[in-house]
Amino acid sequence: MPTPARARADACPGVFAPHDAADGPLARVRLPGGAVSAAQLRALADCAEACGDGDLHLTSRGNVQLRGVTRPGLAVRLADAGLLPSPSHERVRNVLASPLSGLHGGLADVRGLAAELDALLCSTPELASLPGRFLFAFDDGRGDVAGEDADVCWRALDADEGTLLLAGGDTGRPVARADAVAALAEVALDFLRVRGTAWRVAELDDPAWRGTPVPRLPAEIPAGLIERDNGLAAAVVPRFGQLAAAQMRALAEFGPALVTPWKSLVLPNAPADVFERLGFGGETLGTTACIGRPGCAKSRADVRADAVFRPGLRAHFSGCERRCGKPSQSHVDVVAEADGYRVDGRWVPFDELKGKL
Ligand code: SF4
Repeated sequence: MPTPARARADACPGVFAPHDAADGPLARVRLPGGAVSAAQLRALADCAEACGDGDLHLTSRGNVQLRGVTRPGLAVRLADAGLLPSPSHERVRNVLASPLSGLHGGLADVRGLAAELDALLCSTPELASLPGRFLFAFDDGRGDVAGEDADVCWRALDADEGTLLLAGGDTGRPVARADAVAALAEVALDFLRVRGTAWRVAELDDPAWRGTPVPRLPAEIPAGLIERDNGLAAAVVPRFGQLAAAQMRALAEFGPALVTPWKSLVLPNAPADVFERLGFGGETLGTTACIGRPGCAKSRADVRADAVFRPGLRAHFSGCERRCGKPSQSHVDVVAEADGYRVDGRWVPFDELKGKL
């Protein structure tokens, strides 16, 4: 059902419009398709140390955030690293792509499409006014990013053909891979003409913007070593998607990376001993959490300290009902209250939490 018209402007954070968090300004750096070169990984690490609190935070849209950005110079450093190609478009470069495409599985190779779309976005002045929440996606047919709540998604049906999804619904409109980038940009321009105060396609009343709901597949979230046709890739899962600058530099030793919408990174080229060399990221962690206290003033608890990890548990801990960063896949919902948590709506005192999860 469409939601009521938005009464305020979209305030998604960026580099030039940071969010004022309890631990200082928060800046979000967009990485279309999650793609980041080794040099850019090092530049982000330098930015975190020079301008922020020293850490980097992966987001559920495959981007990176810096927190506590109290020192100047971030935009210049990012621009020098090629991470701010168009200041006017910085908040609209929200593009997902199946991270394992071309490496393992999938029906089509969508590598390169996110970068092509990004170039088209940045060279189209009208698209600078898209809401910062508008999300594009290229799914290689495995159904992973098609389940990530994109406003418009091209989903492969085979190597060369695909279909267009609007707000997760299949329109049945066939679109060749070769036309996918132009088709997504065209949808975004159409959305701008009709959106009024809406931020997302799902908020439009017109049934022309609906598709047939697509059942959400239990997409396999990559973790650990991954066999490629030629060698190995690795999916690195940092706890809570948080990396110290030194860890980011360690990742850069293995070449480029792809930030996934599951707060992890894929290294397309990895040796068999990558996790021994990294010293982190080799576990499959089912639990995620928002930043909680002390980073967020709304939080009722230090949710990251309270979070429970155990094999097979997929839970998201939130400091309040907003549930920032919650996964789109099925999970146990854990929300802080004064002296405990609500677990899927049921009150659980803090000292019983571990036993109930
Ligand atoms: S879920 Fe609530 S407490 Fe957690 S970061 Fe979001 S607003 Fe803050």
